[in-house]
Amino acid sequence: MTADRQDTEKVGRKRKFDRAAINVFQTDFLVIGSGIAGLSFALKACEHGEVIIVTKKENFESNTNYAQGGIASVQDKDDSFEMHIKDTLECGVGLCDLRAVEVLVKEGPQAVKELIHWGVHFTRDRKHPERLSLGREGGHSHRRIVRADDLTGREVEHALLEQLKSKSNVTVLENHLAVDLITKKNSSGSKRCIGVFALERHTGSVKAYVSKVTLLAAGGCGQVYQHTTNPDIATGDGVAMAYRAGARIANMEFIQFHPTALYSAKGKAFLISEAVRGEGAVLRKLNGKTFMERYHTMGCLAPRDVVARVIDREMKLSGDKYMLLDLSPIPAERIRERFPNITAECLSRGLDITKEPIPVVPSAHYVCGGVLTDINACTNIEALLGTGEVTCTGVHGANRLASNSMLEAIVFSNRAYQTAVKLIEKLPRQEIDLKSFEYGKVGVTDYDGVFISHNREMLRMTMWDYVGIMRSNNRLAEARKWLKTLSDEIETFYNNSPLNPDLVELRNMATVANLIVKCAQIRKESRGLHQNTDYPNRNDRKYLKNTVVEKKG
Ligand SMILES: Cc1cc2nc3c(=O)[nH]c(=O)nc-3n(C[C@H](O)[C@H](O)[C@H](O)COP(=O)(O)OP(=O)(O)OC[C@H]3O[C@@H](n4cnc5c(N)ncnc54)[C@H](O)[C@@H]3O)c2cc1C
Repeated sequence: MTADRQDTEKVGRKRKFDRAAINVFQTDFLVIGSGIAGLSFALKACEHGEVIIVTKKENFESNTNYAQGGIASVQDKDDSFEMHIKDTLECGVGLCDLRAVEVLVKEGPQAVKELIHWGVHFTRDRKHPERLSLGREGGHSHRRIVRADDLTGREVEHALLEQLKSKSNVTVLENHLAVDLITKKNSSGSKRCIGVFALERHTGSVKAYVSKVTLLAAGGCGQVYQHTTNPDIATGDGVAMAYRAGARIANMEFIQFHPTALYSAKGKAFLISEAVRGEGAVLRKLNGKTFMERYHTMGCLAPRDVVARVIDREMKLSGDKYMLLDLSPIPAERIRERFPNITAECLSRGLDITKEPIPVVPSAHYVCGGVLTDINACTNIEALLGTGEVTCTGVHGANRLASNSMLEAIVFSNRAYQTAVKLIEKLPRQEIDLKSFEYGKVGVTDYDGVFISHNREMLRMTMWDYVGIMRSNNRLAEARKWLKTLSDEIETFYNNSPLNPDLVELRNMATVANLIVKCAQIRKESRGLHQNTDYPNRNDRKYLKNTVVEKKG
């Protein structure tokens, strides 16, 4: 037990922090998360004050680091803002916020320029090296995907981290898991965020980081599903923390399932980028027959939700565990040159994709919903801004257009930066009442790894089986029932155990899973990524609006 924990003060059934026992650190800007959203904000904010970034594992561990395809933005003279906006709106099935989409698309090319300025090496056109090489992905009417081979995210993540090294007033705290936001009530009764409590993994101590402005950039929640393309960090902590603090959460029912993750009977899924189909690869059943043309005019290049649903349907009809992605229309040399990472990863798993088709299955990939923000990245909590996958800005609506998410993160982080700079002018530094933070009855129960891993698997399986690609009223009700039991157990355990990163994540996953089910039950229609067999059609009269949930009390 750490000194911090020994010094806790017993209040009623729960223990609370003793002011003297916890270290408090002050900063101007606090950033939670070190993906593209958090890092691009920090690089600008540090010109105006001190920045602390807390990130729960190594600094590069993020969804950003695994992004393959690229960043959508209008670059070609034959392309236009109007067409990118149109593609985005069509994909979002009536729920996109036009103003947010216009910001996304029109500020996109400048954001790409900034990334290049920060040292990101995007792939150049072979014949015209002065131009960027542009890829095409599902749902896009033009080639407009800026990329760094098929490792775009890694290139971006590493370039931004490299830039930060030269910034003396940015501190990146790795292995610091944000546990809960610290809020206080303004005299008007509204809430203001004044920082975060973070658990240092290696020492087990909790520290308070107090800020004038806090940026929530904690990414997505793919880990709540049994099959996901997301890395382990994606446990929805940001949404869960914000919800507990009183932030408005929207559209959590819209979970994007990537149609083509490499099928693996055991082990981690690996994403086979949509760009592979963009280059000409074709989906086939195990008997060799194609099927996409029967479902959509764009065939294999239909929007990814359509492709995911069709694969799911074909797998259920045939009983097959996967479908095949046939790359034979693409010359072997082109495959190796265009997809070096996918080629190497598959080869390491014994599959030569220049000779054999890839077995693929759909996997949870991206959450379109999140903490509700306006076009200036403000949440309903004062001094709490949000950007990236953790938010719901309105740009994706009921479905995200491929490669619009890193674009969203960087464009809205720039907006958050502009908002934050104005805010710190008028907001004083805050004193903090540590007694307001409860973290459980320490030491009553020992750390119980089996409890955590068992419940984590139960939760992920429940979400996969009942709240997956095709939903129904019965499945959602069943999920609600199971999740209630699980959540009650987890909450009791949380309140009676030493604070532990796995437990903090499990609690957050339960909160997020409940939010997804709640939103899915509110939307009694099928639209975009949310498909319910009991309501097979869209109902514009009733549901042409966001599903917004907020914690009571
Ligand atoms: C395999 C894959 C491929 C993808 N391909 C593309 C693509 O081609 N184009 C595209 O636009 N998008 C793509 N995406 C989606 C895109 O990568 C993400 O939406 C985007 O990178 C999100 O950026 P972010 O900064 O919001 O979150 P992330 O990059 O996920 O960063 C979140 C950060 O928050 C930290 N964090 C989380 N919880 C806590 C906590 N409690 N305390 C402290 N730190 C915390 C994490 O450790 C991480 O550093 C892909 C995603 C995946 C998984």
